[in-house]
Amino acid sequence: MSERRLRVCALYPDLMNIYADRGNLIMLQRRSEWRGIDFQLISSGLGDRLDPDAADIYYIGGGQDRDQKLCAHDLAEHKRDDLHAAAARGAVVFAVCGGYQLLGSSYQLRDETLPGVGLVELHTVRADGPRLIGNAAIEVELDAGARRVLAGFENHGGRTYLAGAADPLGRVLTGHGNNDRDGHEGVRAGNVIGTYLHGPLLPKNAWFADWLITAALGLPTPLSPLPDELEDAAHAEARHAAGV
Ligand code: GLN
Repeated sequence: MSERRLRVCALYPDLMNIYADRGNLIMLQRRSEWRGIDFQLISSGLGDRLDPDAADIYYIGGGQDRDQKLCAHDLAEHKRDDLHAAAARGAVVFAVCGGYQLLGSSYQLRDETLPGVGLVELHTVRADGPRLIGNAAIEVELDAGARRVLAGFENHGGRTYLAGAADPLGRVLTGHGNNDRDGHEGVRAGNVIGTYLHGPLLPKNAWFADWLITAALGLPTPLSPLPDELEDAAHAEARHAAGV
């Protein structure tokens, strides 16, 4: 862990990048480098080993069901133990939509069940109902007493259900969230975070990018402020689109 270098490992960057979710990586890079923090991006694709000590953030973007199938089996067979090891030492695991669905125990796709990595207690079911699509906003409390809003866009057929001690990332203000029923969105277990929100999420919620960097590097104090007029405008626009 270094305060001067952020190491990010993107899992399956060629397959899990729907809705330009790779913009999340660019956001992490820019906001690190603007503070003089070196940024290093590595990737781990199909068949590759995952080094549990090589990154401060492990990132999985969203994906179509067919691409998820390839990744789900690869993740379970080749990377499960190492991803658990990374999370256990406090690395951030940040997963969006299709990636989020793979953090749990399984993704039931009609007559096929895709394995998850079992990092958090949740499962996902591809129901027959309509896809859950639209702008969305959730209220999160990542640090005690500090409630903030994340705004983004969701488009998923799967419904996710948390179990056991799993906590949602946030409370749905507007949109569908995990399953359109219980008002929960995403999951958070320490530094393991999953969400259905695209956008890409981080360019629309710059404060959350900073929170991830701070958590990943274990920084004792918040990062120095940046001139965020454009980022704040993007956030306001995303909130406006979601009606919050
Ligand atoms: N394929 C998954 C679903 O439809 C995830 C989609 C996504 O990543 N946007 O539920």
